[in-house]
Amino acid sequence: MTNTSTEERILSCIEEDSVVGFTREMVRRPSINPPGDYDAIADYAEGLMRDLGLEDIQRSVGEAGRPNVIGVLRGAGPGPAFCLSSHMDVVDPGDLNAWRFPPFEAVVEEGFVWGRGSADSKGMLAGMFEAVRAIQSSGVRLNGDLHLVAAVDDETAGRYGLRYPFEKNLVPARAAILGEASNFNVPHVFKGRIWFELDVIGKSSHGAFPLDGVNAILKACRLIPAIYDIQLGGHPRLGDDTISVGTIQGGSVVNVGAEKCTFAFDIRWAPPLTSQDIRAKVLEVADRIVSEDGDFSIGEIRASEERDPLEFGEETPLIQAIRSAVRKVRGTESELIGWYSSGEVFHMHKNGNIDAGTLFGPGEPWQAHAINERIAIQDLVDGARVYALASLVMCGGGAV
Ligand SMILES: [Zn+2]
Repeated sequence: MTNTSTEERILSCIEEDSVVGFTREMVRRPSINPPGDYDAIADYAEGLMRDLGLEDIQRSVGEAGRPNVIGVLRGAGPGPAFCLSSHMDVVDPGDLNAWRFPPFEAVVEEGFVWGRGSADSKGMLAGMFEAVRAIQSSGVRLNGDLHLVAAVDDETAGRYGLRYPFEKNLVPARAAILGEASNFNVPHVFKGRIWFELDVIGKSSHGAFPLDGVNAILKACRLIPAIYDIQLGGHPRLGDDTISVGTIQGGSVVNVGAEKCTFAFDIRWAPPLTSQDIRAKVLEVADRIVSEDGDFSIGEIRASEERDPLEFGEETPLIQAIRSAVRKVRGTESELIGWYSSGEVFHMHKNGNIDAGTLFGPGEPWQAHAINERIAIQDLVDGARVYALASLVMCGGGAV
């Protein structure tokens, strides 16, 4: 069981210098993705896992040069296994002149660590390392195993990121926290999304005789607003569902009436609708427009991305463990929030590898991908504390 003295013992071992140092070391190892140059940061993560005394340290590599670095803090008993993971890759810093401090120097100023990756998500990875370090130096032995994964390819939603070691059964944990800046709030409901293309097929004509053909661009101009008129729903924590057309291509040359027009939509929505429901609604609209105006046809929906929404109830043990840890560390109540994407949690849950997962961490969400990205040192420290206490609970407690 967890008890106050065990918790206090671990918390007293969290050190500001240590978590700030881990963050700075990682920010100084740029790992911009794409293309994803992981050599320096993966070596650092692996070395740190060794220094912290983790076991079974290995690289889970689905594609050459893109290693998920994993290790485990062995528990003393048969308690449940738990996973802390954060991604090592960062987005391009953009215009270097726009930065107040060089983005890969990890300058400490005004109570913040500044630099690309500080808030997305190397500061979270540093907090997870610090949580493990504090548990180790406190002398507390967790009941279950605590797995740590420094993951690749989050920024590109790559096929061989965090989901990959789970698929390979290298991380046998049924619940996970993925480090992202959520400002200590706890996302428990996540939007679904579908990105799809549709073709409108008409009949070409000489540009001088348009009435001999069926202009696909004109038909698409009827269909697109009709798709926007689809009534979806929403969720108090996710806001309204959204429909957005992103691209359109039609016709070949100016003096031929267009035979084909292709457009692409991004639709995002809350539970309980599924992607099948969304497909059905789109096709219903398309069928209606074709039947009203029956001299053209519409091809298949081609989806390049398709995922259902995801929701974990407020009573889910993982959600409760994080909220309780935030309460103890920060003295405030965390907000339950919705998130526009479920990230790798979606795949791990859909594949049956985990029962629950969320994206959680210190730092302001708007810092991600921003110029002058930074994270408050106090947040780094509190983040490490929350990761440690949540792990203690999720691993079934610990003993000295
Ligand atoms: Zn991130």
